[in-house]
Amino acid sequence: MSDSPKSASSGVPNSMAGRDVAYCLHPYTNARAHEEKGPLIITHGKGINVFDDQGKSYIEAMAGLWSTSLGFGEDRLIKAANKQMKELPYYHSFTHKTPIPPIELSEKLLSMAPVPMSKVFFANSGSEANDTVVKLVWYYNNAIGRPNKKKIISRMKGYHGVTVASASMTGLPANHTDFDLPIANILHTSCPHYWRFGKDGESEEDFSTRMANDLEKMILDEGPETIAAFIGEPVMGAGGVIVPPKDYWEKIQIVLKKYDILLIADEVICGFGRTGNTFGCETFGMKPDIISVAKALSSSYLPISAVMISDELYQGIADNSAKIGVLGHGYTYSGHPVCAAVALETLKIYEERNLFDQAAKVGEHLQAGLAQFKDHPLVGEVRGVGLIAAVELVQDKKTKASFDPVGKVGTYLNERAIEEGLIIRNMGDSIAFCPPLIITEDQIDQMLDRFKTALDKTLDWVK
Ligand code: PLP
Repeated sequence: MSDSPKSASSGVPNSMAGRDVAYCLHPYTNARAHEEKGPLIITHGKGINVFDDQGKSYIEAMAGLWSTSLGFGEDRLIKAANKQMKELPYYHSFTHKTPIPPIELSEKLLSMAPVPMSKVFFANSGSEANDTVVKLVWYYNNAIGRPNKKKIISRMKGYHGVTVASASMTGLPANHTDFDLPIANILHTSCPHYWRFGKDGESEEDFSTRMANDLEKMILDEGPETIAAFIGEPVMGAGGVIVPPKDYWEKIQIVLKKYDILLIADEVICGFGRTGNTFGCETFGMKPDIISVAKALSSSYLPISAVMISDELYQGIADNSAKIGVLGHGYTYSGHPVCAAVALETLKIYEERNLFDQAAKVGEHLQAGLAQFKDHPLVGEVRGVGLIAAVELVQDKKTKASFDPVGKVGTYLNERAIEEGLIIRNMGDSIAFCPPLIITEDQIDQMLDRFKTALDKTLDWVK
């Protein structure tokens, strides 16, 4: 950890940490706690490791923010960016113009899509992609004469981003409280976490039926003619890595079909190998009308996200843009040539190195390795699929009672992990693992060794 950010002199920061505290407002950070604690300054990275400004190395078990799938320092991405920078560092895609990389990237993405998709729209982040999705769904339903079919259903604990519409779809209190969110027309249905919300004696399949019934009840209460779309991550990420129970997506999709409701798959975390297939949709049998991707699209080396839409949607949207005279949506950086070139190179690397199959294989090693913690006194549930997983800490293994307040023990564990040279993420008391896809079995063992030490230290503290 960096030295104290506090300056010895009168108010003028004299260290990088001090300057950070003096000048930066951090995302997803308790600002007052940060004034005391200061930052962990990461200066460089290599493979699955990052290094702080004191030279200490950490295994990045979260691939940054579920994102750097190729790890740090992948030379080919640096070269691809450099080449495109020299050729054409910027151009836009408005008013019939375009640079070349977004054309090639669109073609590539459509060839990889888990179901037939027709067109690709680019943005810069997962949040922007999902805000775009909301606007396209509204635009489409107006275009085809369904102006009342506008509500979007997401799920409690779902995560879809932080811009106004995407934060509204996110089903976590911290993203709504005092931001005056959610906006109108966004609803949240039940969270499909079987271990936490399943009733005594209820099978996983029965629990999924109950989830589908909850959804159907919401649709009927609101009026099916008012519901446009349902959005979901194949596996919930930031809500605590919640893997859907058996038959969940099958049963949800039957309800959506019945009421003519679009399915939006938020593949921002799951997309590109995370669950052991190219898309989470393939792992769970989802047949979406719209898919959003980001993060691993460029291994997060540069900001880029994309929305893929079905031909049915495209036809309605295209007609409407012709009627109005323009599709009045787009970002200065939509299809940025350097970001698109890096994304294209990322997808090539995935293919050449067969990284999605590799993720499935080492993912089994991760899940088996984590299973050893099931018997640990602090652990309530170990869950995951492919190379994404979580360990949920509880006060009482039998009753599943959480610690009070939720997050205190998780935060303590997080800090012990940092001491051990391990970066994980606690979402409350659920500890997430989402390492780069390039991680090896040996590195997974090393990561879990460090986690075990941190977990045992946490147990000593709790006792
Ligand atoms: N959707 C999902 C599933 C995410 O996990 C995230 C970010 O973690 C987002 C959307 C938002 O992406 P961004 O932070 O790039 O706006």
